[in-house]
Amino acid sequence: MFIASADRYETMKYNRTGRSGLKLPVISLGWWYNFGGLDLLENGRLIARHAFDHGITHFDLANNYGPPPGSAEETFGRLLREDFAPYRDELIISTKAGYDMWPGPYGEWGSRKYMLASLDQSLKRMGLEYVDIFYSHRPDPETPLEETMGALASAVRQGKALYVGISNYSPEQTRQAARILRELSTPCLIHQARYSLLDRWVEDGLLDTLEEEGIGAIVFSPLAQGQLTDRYLNGIPEGARATKTERVWLTPKDVKQNLPKIRKLNKLAGQRGQSLAQMAIAWVLRKPQVTSALVGASSVKQLETNLAALNNLKFTQEELKVIEDILKE
Ligand code: NDP
Repeated sequence: MFIASADRYETMKYNRTGRSGLKLPVISLGWWYNFGGLDLLENGRLIARHAFDHGITHFDLANNYGPPPGSAEETFGRLLREDFAPYRDELIISTKAGYDMWPGPYGEWGSRKYMLASLDQSLKRMGLEYVDIFYSHRPDPETPLEETMGALASAVRQGKALYVGISNYSPEQTRQAARILRELSTPCLIHQARYSLLDRWVEDGLLDTLEEEGIGAIVFSPLAQGQLTDRYLNGIPEGARATKTERVWLTPKDVKQNLPKIRKLNKLAGQRGQSLAQMAIAWVLRKPQVTSALVGASSVKQLETNLAALNNLKFTQEELKVIEDILKE
């Protein structure tokens, strides 16, 4: 039986999500990798327990996380039953619909048909009555935005979600979605977007839009999938994400290309008295619009390292300038 640590709220910091009533931990745990049917359940259990024991109250899932798709939600369902059920009200669980999930025209994108059927499936897999946050995982170029946002609002009205969010929407799409959701009395809580030292697109308008609209930002892959750590400094280790062939989101070619910058960033992190992973997390959190850094971890040790980012979240102007110069090279 799992009994959560009594001092689990001692060290974590919590940020308010936009202009909502909801606070999120500044570091949240993503379930995209490491919790699927091909992964070791007991390793996932230890990571999830360690996270919760250190104040990570937010676990982020999606219908398609696995592989196979759906299996990360099944893993969560099992861990909820076996470990976390007594703590349900201390947890913020999110899921999403948008990517390819089942065959035929109703198995992906943003129709009302797909979104609400997918949420029902997710709830069943996770053994939950409701999720805390339900997201549109990506904008659908063909479905009217009113329909997709209407499906999110219905989920709240049906009691199947407490809050709604969007992911991977452009600043303009975000503005429109926020307006529609406001009209439906279901304000957009949060936007989930990729942001790291190696991918700064959100600085080009999205963060300002989120601030204006009162929407929180939870940023994914702040470690650029492991590149902004010591993982690849001495080659590509067996079992690392860049070696996984069932998904090709990070390739050895990406790693090789970014390595010169990564080495320089690593040196600066050392001068700050922290690891590169810790500096990379602190760096995304320096933006006031960023509510939470959504990290992944394949071991408890990695998560431990990442949590220690909290020990130094501040940057001097000089350090920020050095980073800018490295990134420009
Ligand atoms: P990260 O950038 O944090 O990468 C996590 C990976 O980096 C780990 O799995 C591990 O890879 C490696 N790593 C982490 N910490 C360390 C460390 N201290 N030392 C060495 N290596 C480390 O985030 P993810 O790309 O995993 O994304 C996080 C979450 O964001 C996802 O789980 C998901 O919830 C969400 N997401 C959302 C998307 C969207 O479209 N909305 C898209 C992508 C992600 P290794 O396996 O090599 O050990």
